Amino acid sequence: MTPTLGRGANIAMRDGALLGRALKKVADGHLTLADALAAHERDMLAYGFSVVREAARVGERRMAQNPLPR
Ligand SMILES: Cc1cc2nc3c(=O)[nH]c(=O)nc-3n(C[C@H](O)[C@H](O)[C@H](O)COP(=O)(O)OP(=O)(O)OC[C@H]3O[C@@H](n4cnc5c(N)ncnc54)[C@H](O)[C@@H]3O)c2cc1C
Repeated sequence: MTPTLGRGANIAMRDGALLGRALKKVADGHLTLADALAAHERDMLAYGFSVVREAARVGERRMAQNPLPR
């Protein structure tokens, strides 16, 4: 995550909050730990990398950052 959007800390807090919810489902017996972590990772990769790509685009345009690898 580059600093160009100032959203990395918010995303990190979202990651933590959603991980807490996933672990609650394990504690309540609704999911196994492996299934809960797999679902959490799948969701996190989708919303997290969408912000990473957006931050990288802004960084390229405004701060002459190197582009993300394709
Ligand atoms: C220069 C810069 C400026 C930024 N400015 C902003 C800003 O203004 N606003 C904003 O919202 N975001 C900003 N960001 C982005 C933000 O800092 C990150 O997105 C956020 O800190 C990610 O939090 P995290 O907890 O996921 O990871 P991190 O903050 O990277 O924390 C991961 C931690 O895990 C530790 N770790 C790694 N591997 C291991 C291991 N094997 N065992 C034990 N510990 C390990 C690391 O040492 C680290 O302490 C900036 C980023 C950079 C690089």
